[in-house]
Amino acid sequence: MNIRIGNGYDIHRLVPDRPLILGGVKIPHSLGLLGHSDADALTHAIMDAMLGALGLGDIGHYFPPSDPKWSGADSLLLLQQVNQLIEARGWHVGNIDSVIIAEQPKMKPHLEDMQEKLAHTLHIVDRNQVGIKATTNEKLGPVGREEGIAVYAVVLLFRG
Ligand code: MG
Repeated sequence: MNIRIGNGYDIHRLVPDRPLILGGVKIPHSLGLLGHSDADALTHAIMDAMLGALGLGDIGHYFPPSDPKWSGADSLLLLQQVNQLIEARGWHVGNIDSVIIAEQPKMKPHLEDMQEKLAHTLHIVDRNQVGIKATTNEKLGPVGREEGIAVYAVVLLFRG
């Protein structure tokens, strides 16, 4: 089989005095995402989808939060490593579709920058292969109360 599909999910808490980074883009906001690395939930969900597509486990296995090496890590560099891992097996990212769920701030002004950074990191020529959508949670639940930001991602890999 020359195509594989994977899905990924991530959520991080919103707290003061942390940067808000999604898809490698620093977004101006009063709160940021809490995590061991830079807490880039979009990039994490994409990495998990890539690993899942090949049955290779999840990012916690490769970049354990218990390892001080990954403290404050730039998640795009982790994504680069996951991409190397799949490329070493002859696979490439065909396309990604993802959705960021956040009440605040507005994601739309930053989506193109995120596409650009993710496409570049994954050696994708056409940034339209990187789908990023954003929605609110209609003020429902923890995400609706702005306690965190959640992301879902689906990735298609092809061999060739
Ligand atoms: Mg994460």
